[in-house]
Amino acid sequence: MNQVLTPPAIQLSAVALDKTYRKGPEEVNVLRGVNLDVRRGEFLSIIGRSGSGKSTLLHLLGLLDSPDIGEIRLEGKRIDHLPAKTRDQLRNRVFGFVFQFYHLLPELTVLENVLSPLMIRYSSWEYWKRRKELQDKAQEMIQEVGLSHRLKHRPNQLSGGEMQRAAIARSLVSEPEILLADEPTGNLDVETGKGIIELLNRLNSERQLTIMMVTHDEAIAERAQRIVRLSKGQIENIRERAAG
Ligand code: ADP
Ligand code: MG
Repeated sequence: MNQVLTPPAIQLSAVALDKTYRKGPEEVNVLRGVNLDVRRGEFLSIIGRSGSGKSTLLHLLGLLDSPDIGEIRLEGKRIDHLPAKTRDQLRNRVFGFVFQFYHLLPELTVLENVLSPLMIRYSSWEYWKRRKELQDKAQEMIQEVGLSHRLKHRPNQLSGGEMQRAAIARSLVSEPEILLADEPTGNLDVETGKGIIELLNRLNSERQLTIMMVTHDEAIAERAQRIVRLSKGQIENIRERAAG
């Protein structure tokens, strides 16, 4: 019984993050002591005005960039200062990324786009040996996002919502523990955006996937369990709702 009452463990933390960009003589102090704890299995929205540093924070959390001061911790262990190669491995294994403009490769089909992280992960020989298993896995992810009827289509033959679904399938094929989504509905109409959020909600509840979603759209943010705002370089808690 006790176990049921224990709150979920902290999976990812930002500790006193500072980040300043320098453009010539100009300095922009974007993050000024950001503290944030993300619990395993939660769906968290980060809101904030354009230019408030939301993408910067997501990039630091996902090891795409490094803070000037402060730490990123995974399961309580510092990860931002590890050697570049270790950070690359960690990033590929732990994090999945989804972006506003999908970043699909235009010359590849949906299936090939979704397979691409696995082609990069394995040597050609290893990939060739395991290709049946890996292709099955890619197809399973494509089915999960509702795109099985678009396997052989190229990105320019897909709608915006379908492209984002393909990008989500690609982010899931490496079985990440944490999905970092930067304005995933930012380029979609309201109804299509809702469909993408429903998909993220389902992945969160069925796969216990931790999701951190950045959005400037408060209606979209509402669909998460917890909302924080980035303002003046710091995190404000906006609201939390019990899971389920
Ligand atoms: P948001 O995602 O909330 O719109 P960003 O994190 O993209 O905000 O940017 C925050 C601020 O930092 C903006 O003023 C932006 O111009 C600046 N900025 C972001 N990336 C860079 C960079 N690579 N070099 C210089 N300035 C940057
Ligand atoms: Mg941004």
